[in-house]
Amino acid sequence: MQLNIIGAGLAGCEAALWLADRGVQVDLYEQKPTKFSPAHKSEGFAELICSNSLKAERPDSASGLLKIEMKMMGSHLLDAAETARVAAGGALAVDRDVFSTAVTEMVEKHPNITIHREEVTALDESAPVLVASGPLTEGALAQAVAALTGDHRLSFYDAVAPIVTAESLDYDKVFAASRYGRGEADYLNCPFNKEEYENFHAALIAAERAPLHDFDGDLTVYEGCMPIEVMAARGADTIRFGPLRPVGLRDPRTGHRPWAAVQLRAENTARTLYNLVGFQTNLKWGEQKRVFSMIPGLEHAEFVRYGVMHRNTFLESPKVLTKQQFLADHPNVFFAGQITGFEGYMESAASGLLAAHQILARLQGGELPPPPAATMCGALLDYITTPNKDFQPMGANMGILPRTEEINAIRDKRERYMALSQNAQDAMRAWTEEYK
Ligand SMILES: Cc1cc2nc3c(=O)[nH]c(=O)nc-3n(C[C@H](O)[C@H](O)[C@H](O)COP(=O)(O)OP(=O)(O)OC[C@H]3O[C@@H](n4cnc5c(N)ncnc54)[C@H](O)[C@@H]3O)c2cc1C
Repeated sequence: MQLNIIGAGLAGCEAALWLADRGVQVDLYEQKPTKFSPAHKSEGFAELICSNSLKAERPDSASGLLKIEMKMMGSHLLDAAETARVAAGGALAVDRDVFSTAVTEMVEKHPNITIHREEVTALDESAPVLVASGPLTEGALAQAVAALTGDHRLSFYDAVAPIVTAESLDYDKVFAASRYGRGEADYLNCPFNKEEYENFHAALIAAERAPLHDFDGDLTVYEGCMPIEVMAARGADTIRFGPLRPVGLRDPRTGHRPWAAVQLRAENTARTLYNLVGFQTNLKWGEQKRVFSMIPGLEHAEFVRYGVMHRNTFLESPKVLTKQQFLADHPNVFFAGQITGFEGYMESAASGLLAAHQILARLQGGELPPPPAATMCGALLDYITTPNKDFQPMGANMGILPRTEEINAIRDKRERYMALSQNAQDAMRAWTEEYK
């Protein structure tokens, strides 16, 4: 059994090591040091290009649960992280160089992995191949992918509004309605009075923005989805006549039209997550939390994803990818990592593990069902393959796990999350036992 893997990042290395352990002869292609993306700086594999945090470890947190599931699936990168750990409270943070060196050594020493330090510029579909070239995939390879998916099915920029959990909203303030009663009260509305709006507007335009990197290119291309803070800076009422326009809405508490209203749109079919419509933003994450919590009803909102504006190449997975992580129309071409819409370091690595399981099954002439939706991995796979007009990458969060009435009845949030985590662990254990 043989497989080509493109990209020795988090997903590519995790997949290569897992498959090589099971006797697959892996040819791993990595363009560094011949060519570097604008964010990659070192020659090592599994380079962490920004933060050195691999996030929380508590089992009742989404990131902690993801790690438990990855261990059950046989992660090597978590072993490497353990050797590179630095103190970070309840989180797993690593020395990025020690981590990358540990992964590189594991890969280099593996007898079943052959490393090719070269840029891949074409896709050979005659046998299974795994594309794990990351969110900064560009040039000939991006063109080769776009040729298979159709140009418009490969996005190069991320302009994302924050996402909050439904259960963290204040329903004494937030009300369901569509403007002019059109549709079936599809939106939740956060109504401002004049004073609240003015305070919010002042905070929004003064808030600190994240620096743009050279490789983010010219973000002014987004006239159609301008950052909310840029629009707000154009005038006191610009956003009140834009995404926050209150027309066609009546606040049931006052019986009047609010001065302005932020609309929240369901992000998933279970309506456990909502995004802030029109709030794509480049504010620093801490500032988003501070300023957007001034929106009536969002005072205690739990942000499962903050807004970002940066270069990020990803497939329109709901349209092109199967749950087995190959292109529906090109079954030999598998994808893993951030390019599929699994967002984050550990999510990308987990996606590499999931793809590896599917590829091994394929090389043995079969196919696996994905892990159950009750697991974090299964829920993420569901998310990226469920039709979604405004598809954007998603990281692990408790909001995407399906709820039962029993779980919803648990009032304490920590206990509720622990119950979700326990369910997920049981489901993942059963899945890994069955498909060892
Ligand atoms: C600017 C930026 C900052 C980010 N910061 C964070 C963060 O702080 N925390 C977080 O959790 N997530 C972050 N992410 C998201 C994501 O977790 C990381 O990008 C993660 O590294 C993705 O893993 P991956 O394996 O999919 O891709 P990568 O880790 O990028 O690996 C892809 C590999 O493929 C190689 N490659 C690319 N093209 C070719 C080719 N044609 N031929 C051969 N090799 C090729 C690359 O050199 C690279 O080594 C960030 C993303 C971006 C774009």
